[in-house]
Amino acid sequence: MNRLILPIADYVRRKPRRIPVIVSSAAIVSSALLTSLLVAMDLHQNGAILISVVTALSACLAVPAGIVHYMREDHIARQQAELLALASTDALTGIMNRRTFELSVERERARMRRTGGQAALILLDIDWFKSINDSFGHAAGDTVLKTVAELAAAALRQPLDVIARWGGEEFAILLTGVTQEQALEVSERLRRSIEKAAFDTVAPGLSVSASFGLCPMTAGCSLRTALNEADAALYRAKKNGRNQTVCAAGAAKPICVIAKAG
Ligand code: GH3
Ligand code: MG
Ligand code: MG
Repeated sequence: MNRLILPIADYVRRKPRRIPVIVSSAAIVSSALLTSLLVAMDLHQNGAILISVVTALSACLAVPAGIVHYMREDHIARQQAELLALASTDALTGIMNRRTFELSVERERARMRRTGGQAALILLDIDWFKSINDSFGHAAGDTVLKTVAELAAAALRQPLDVIARWGGEEFAILLTGVTQEQALEVSERLRRSIEKAAFDTVAPGLSVSASFGLCPMTAGCSLRTALNEADAALYRAKKNGRNQTVCAAGAAKPICVIAKAG
């Protein structure tokens, strides 16, 4: 008997959350065994009534135990989903974080490997952001970050395209199924929307611009390579005067600089 009870006791001790399942299973199994035994041994005159009574009794145990178990599992599943959402998003802006973006890029590269096609990686860096913090305060800086994330999300075809906070005042964008020219159009549209956005509601006299480094991608191009290329292009955009998009030097077309719109 100990051989049966000890492993069960050990299992319950290790996994107390399984108690409702064990109780309901035990109720059903024992009632089925008991009634079968009584009927088989002809110890009860009316087998049907006995079976109904015992089944009802076991259901009284099994159903509440099942409900408790279901509620616990549901609670755990919701907690896990919340944790996953927290672990995959940036706390301030609510958009993807770096890790989730990397996974998205790898998925897109796998898709491109199967189907061909191309994509583009864009690094967006807010211009003179330190001065924004210094002049208007850190809270205003935070609001600028959130607003830029919203403008960028609105400019993209989500969920096909993805955006992440890459760190500080820098964002990474993956545009899927686009040529370099199309990616440049999206980048410029977003640049203009940031330039024109009414940031004086955040702080009077505040205006914001951003610089963009763009690198076209195919399946053969690793994220690391694309990031290096986009970063070098972003550096040139900063050097050329900011508020502009620069394409990677190794891109299909030579460097294409879109000058700041007048
Ligand atoms: P550049 O045009 O060359 O990009 O200049 P910049 O001032 O934007 O760049 P720099 O790297 O000198 O400054 C970035 C600043 O971003 C410094 C840092 O304090 C600020 N920053 C980073 N993360 C946050 C944040 O979460 N909130 C706020 N408000 N500021 C942040
Ligand atoms: Mg900056
Ligand atoms: Mg920066």
